[in-house]
Amino acid sequence: MGKRIRAWWGLTKQSVSTRSFLDHANMRAAVYVSAIVIALESWMILSLLRSYFEGLAAGKHRDLPWLVNHGSWYVVLLVFGVAVLIHSLRYARGLVRNRRFSRGLLWAFSIACIAFGIYYGCNSYAKGEQVLAFVTMTLFVFGLITWRPIPSLVFSTITFGAFYLLISQSAPPTYGTQVNLFTLWISTFVVALASYHQKESESQKEQRLKEINERLQYIATHDELTKIPNMHTFRSAVGVLLEGIDELGTRFSILYMDVENFKSYNERHGFLAGDELLCDLAHGLQDIFANELVARFSDDHFTALCEVDVAEERVEAARALVRSLRGDVRLHLKAGAFEPTSENTDVGVAIDKARIACNETKRRPDRFFYVYDTALDLQVERRHHIINSIKTAASDGWIKVYYQPVVRCSDGSGELCGYEALARWDDPTYGLLPPFAFIETLEEYREIDKLDRCIIEQVCRDLRAELDAGKPVVPVSLNFSRLDFELYDVPAFLREMTQKYDVPSNLLDVEITESALTEQLSELQKTMASLREGQFSLWLDDFGSGYSSLNVLKDFRFNVLKIDMAFLRGFPQNEKAGPILESIVMLAKELNMVTLCEGVETKEQFDFLHAIGCDRAQGYYFGKPDAQKKNPIH
Ligand code: C2E
Ligand code: CA
Ligand code: CA
Repeated sequence: MGKRIRAWWGLTKQSVSTRSFLDHANMRAAVYVSAIVIALESWMILSLLRSYFEGLAAGKHRDLPWLVNHGSWYVVLLVFGVAVLIHSLRYARGLVRNRRFSRGLLWAFSIACIAFGIYYGCNSYAKGEQVLAFVTMTLFVFGLITWRPIPSLVFSTITFGAFYLLISQSAPPTYGTQVNLFTLWISTFVVALASYHQKESESQKEQRLKEINERLQYIATHDELTKIPNMHTFRSAVGVLLEGIDELGTRFSILYMDVENFKSYNERHGFLAGDELLCDLAHGLQDIFANELVARFSDDHFTALCEVDVAEERVEAARALVRSLRGDVRLHLKAGAFEPTSENTDVGVAIDKARIACNETKRRPDRFFYVYDTALDLQVERRHHIINSIKTAASDGWIKVYYQPVVRCSDGSGELCGYEALARWDDPTYGLLPPFAFIETLEEYREIDKLDRCIIEQVCRDLRAELDAGKPVVPVSLNFSRLDFELYDVPAFLREMTQKYDVPSNLLDVEITESALTEQLSELQKTMASLREGQFSLWLDDFGSGYSSLNVLKDFRFNVLKIDMAFLRGFPQNEKAGPILESIVMLAKELNMVTLCEGVETKEQFDFLHAIGCDRAQGYYFGKPDAQKKNPIH
């Protein structure tokens, strides 16, 4: 038999949820049906008593057995009705959960109603009313329980058959009664069938809704990739913890963990391998924080809640896990901890502090774990200040452009050939802040465009002033954050500024860091094509600081390659530094790119760069960034 036909006959196995839905529907119906039965039977009993006493008053013969004979069924049904009503109300309130007993009670009640219908139909009513009395009770029963098709067919056949046989005993039913009974039998079955299918489809709809809700709930609380709890779950857990922190008596730590160099791992091995690593890490962390909470907060950042005493031990285990996962020495875990107390009840602030403690380890190469202390409070305060005042900073001139000279190196002259514009934040409260104090924060809050637009405009304004004064001008390179390309139309803004200040576009160079080129590549390609069309020179900043360097060279066309200052740092002590720099310069030449080496601090370094044919150089040896455009010192 086809599945659909079996389903139509109710022969497929009902799911637990369908059964529970039907049980609930039946118990709800039982409240109404039993209430009607109670009202009906009370009415019957009252009429019987009235007719008993009226009969007595009229001197008719009315003994107690007469009363019992006539009234016992009413009483039985009344008692049953009251029992079912009480039970179904208690069930609706969740006070009873015994489904078997509930089903049994409804069945017993149904059988009692039908038996009553048959008995009274046959004994107490005139011929024409017999069928009506019986059918009334049958309808009660079918309204009381949602019958499956087969049981309903069997049940209705038996009851109609029994009734038919009983009324045939006194006198054979007329043709009309036969037809009526047959039609009613079929109709009862069809009504039961329709009600069953309707309820079943309702239950399926409800089930699907429940499933969708559960799925949504899961998605909302779990990380899609690793399947461990996500940021929202973590935040609410911290919220609950903070609410009851005074009564807890146990000290808790919020841990914030960050896998260093994960992004480079992603770039080297591809996103799939990166995802796999994150999943393995997430599951490993779940084992380490087995009875605690661990969540994936974002990207390669994980958070956990544990007791203060075990925090360092857990972090140590997590570090060992990261080391063992892929055997990659570049990957390692750093963590920060913050112990919330009742004074700091804001969830966001509490987690932020753990993260700030984690970030602090980046500034301290010897530390892998840092516990938040009051010294960091100042940083938090400063971060909030930065975010709250970026607009004022941009409009009130707190943002200053410092210029660092870039010199010619290929001819060994060390002559000025450009400047790099570097931002400084001259704060009325905190004084002059270097970029590390605000760039990261502004990026995090997606406000970096405000700073960069302000710098671009000032650079254009300064160039205009020099042009007006008839001074010789050299190009200025501008730093862009990856987010700039998402937050505004960079080529359009540069065009707007060059037009506004009437500055030739070849006086502006666009520095894009290597790490900006890992996401939304096709979009960036388009933006870069548009910049190239606008005659802006494109520079690849910090070349060699990531691991994707060679891919970047393959996929993007740059005019200038800025070699990261890390390469020079080891020179001349590190034997490898020289040959590496030399091969980078050679490679760039093959690709028709101009080379610029950053971080030149000594004459020896400059001479070496000249010897290997590096085109330009920049560094403290020639001049530090300054509010004035100064000429190179050497
Ligand atoms: P960057 O683009 O790599 O800039 C070079 C950084 O190295 C500058 O630091 C500069 O002062 C420093 N530097 C230059 N020569 C030497 C040297 O010989 N030795 C050493 N040890 N350091 C040297 P600064 O100004 O602190 O800028 C840091 C970073 O902040 C910049 O790195 C850049 O990524 C970012 N940044 C600066 N200004 C802006 C800006 O206007 N917008 C954006 N989005 N980022 C900016
Ligand atoms: Ca730069
Ligand atoms: Ca750089």
